[in-house]
Amino acid sequence: MKMKVLKFGGTSVGSAQQMKEVAQLISDGNKKIVVLSAMSGTTNTLVEIGDYLYKKNPEGANEIINLLESKYRSHIDELYATDEYKQLAQKSIKENFDAIRTYTKDLFTLFEEKVILSQGELISTKMMTLYLQEQGIKATLLPALEYMRTDKNASPDLAYTRSHLQTLIEQTPDAEIYITQGYICRNAYGEVDNLQRGGSDYTASLIGAAVNASEIQIWTDIDGMHNNDPRIVEHTTPVRHLNFDEAAELAYFGAKILHPTCIQPAKYANIPVRLLNTMDPKAPGTLICNDTELARIKAVAAKDNITAIRIKSSRMLLAYGFMRKVFDIFESYKTSIDMVCTSEVGVSVTIDNTKNLNNIVNDLKMYGTVTVDDNMCILCVVGDLQWSNVGFESAVVSAMKDVPVRMISYGGSNYNISFLVNQDDKKRSLQLLSDALFVENKE
Ligand code: ADP
Ligand code: ASP
Ligand code: MG
Repeated sequence: MKMKVLKFGGTSVGSAQQMKEVAQLISDGNKKIVVLSAMSGTTNTLVEIGDYLYKKNPEGANEIINLLESKYRSHIDELYATDEYKQLAQKSIKENFDAIRTYTKDLFTLFEEKVILSQGELISTKMMTLYLQEQGIKATLLPALEYMRTDKNASPDLAYTRSHLQTLIEQTPDAEIYITQGYICRNAYGEVDNLQRGGSDYTASLIGAAVNASEIQIWTDIDGMHNNDPRIVEHTTPVRHLNFDEAAELAYFGAKILHPTCIQPAKYANIPVRLLNTMDPKAPGTLICNDTELARIKAVAAKDNITAIRIKSSRMLLAYGFMRKVFDIFESYKTSIDMVCTSEVGVSVTIDNTKNLNNIVNDLKMYGTVTVDDNMCILCVVGDLQWSNVGFESAVVSAMKDVPVRMISYGGSNYNISFLVNQDDKKRSLQLLSDALFVENKE
């Protein structure tokens, strides 16, 4: 029988009460794998602890560690009904905090930081497993550090995950609910590592692919993917269906509800992904699968902190090989490009990683005059935008008629039109696009 994989984010397990609600939601008698994030705020606090330790300020770190530990003590007091489980949980969580404290005494490097960052998920999953067991439910903890692994390129090693996860599951065939940690893994050298901030979504989809799940559910604090960023724009509404490519574009271009890497494993294994709301479990949410709803614009997202680089060259006129030389420079600095626009005499590209910007600009100067615009943002309009559909581009472009636009990109895929605008114009552009494209949903 195929299982479902359910992932609950930080806010979904953000308090003892919410943990109880999640426990109820997942205890429906069906065998499943449940991936948990750290309780909300915890990973940020662990990052802060690391910051103090990098700055060689163990007193600062200890103050935060003590505060965090006392918060967890009261969560535990509230969560469990019996003294037996309260004590079991207190003892277990004390081990995590003792582990964190050992790193305040010595040299602090990336390695120690990653061990500290892993504690949030280790704690939340332990708390949930004990809670379910206290309720008499057959719950088992699957330790992610024993099956989730990345290779030498820091990409997940799905074959390793598949075989090790299978073995762990087979060791406890009677379990009803398998609880496991999102986000954390080991790298190719066996060290504790992670799948980047927000990476629990990725864990869920990797597990889904590894066990050939019937569905991957991402449970969060909102009823699915909205047609615009609800933190910025008014009157956003949920999108009921997206295909994998549309969801990947939205996640990559800033729709925070999904981690950008999460779609690929699910798409590859053709496993539907459902985005659901822990605070309103009956709401339909968003279904992401292979089917495309034709002739509709679905949603808008925005990606911040973008830098645009223009290389203008009169020598480019009729020259072949110019583009390759330009792209080679970006590749040599391991910097990926998001948008590209070309004309006969120049090319503009955008990047979000400016670590090597000075070197890149220096090298580009061999081939033309270089100008850089920073503090920009990409607005990405996603939907069925095949070129044979008429009217969509004009609707989108006319919504942007009063906004200064630095670049427009269309035709790269069937699903997206992107604009590059000043960061200061982001909010009003998103609102203008919503007003023009999703008017019928505004009530
Ligand atoms: P979790 O902790 O469960 O992983 P996140 O905070 O990562 O949750 O993602 C959920 C949040 O994403 C929502 O609370 C919402 O504010 C934000 N968000 C941004 N863009 C969108 C969008 N287009 N649709 C839905 N939520 C979005
Ligand atoms: N706890 C991790 C973070 O806050 C991973 C996640 O929640 O997805 O980034
Ligand atoms: Mg998230």
